[in-house]
Amino acid sequence: MSDCCSQPCHNSHPKKQRCPACGQECAEVSARTISHHIQQTWSWTPAAARYFFCDAPDCAVVYFGEDGATLNTAQLRTRIGVKEKADDRPLCYCFGVSLADFQRDPAVKDFVIAQTKAGLCSCETSNPSGRCCLKDFPEVGD
Ligand SMILES: [Zn+2]
Repeated sequence: MSDCCSQPCHNSHPKKQRCPACGQECAEVSARTISHHIQQTWSWTPAAARYFFCDAPDCAVVYFGEDGATLNTAQLRTRIGVKEKADDRPLCYCFGVSLADFQRDPAVKDFVIAQTKAGLCSCETSNPSGRCCLKDFPEVGD
């Protein structure tokens, strides 16, 4: 987790890389996270030293390695909320909150905030981005 910054090998590398499909700058994600979302994880061998998560809504690529290898939505077993338009797309993977759940009851976000503060979330593995689910919640009124 946060100890990645203490490894000297990472200090000289930027934490972001451009998606080979859409060109957007993407944040790094761990192979551990990917292994929780890819189909047939047992037959996937991470070849790149580092991987990145593309959250561009219209880009089919979800993960790519610094070696140029890509994994698209069809190769994952998890629905990628930021790349879907459906009302029931997932917002919070830790507690199974969909956009529709949140729209019905915006207080769900307060629940997620409380759970996160209490350290009960599992974003690092449950969220395909490897980052906190709360960033995917739209502002109320959007
Ligand atoms: Zn992309």
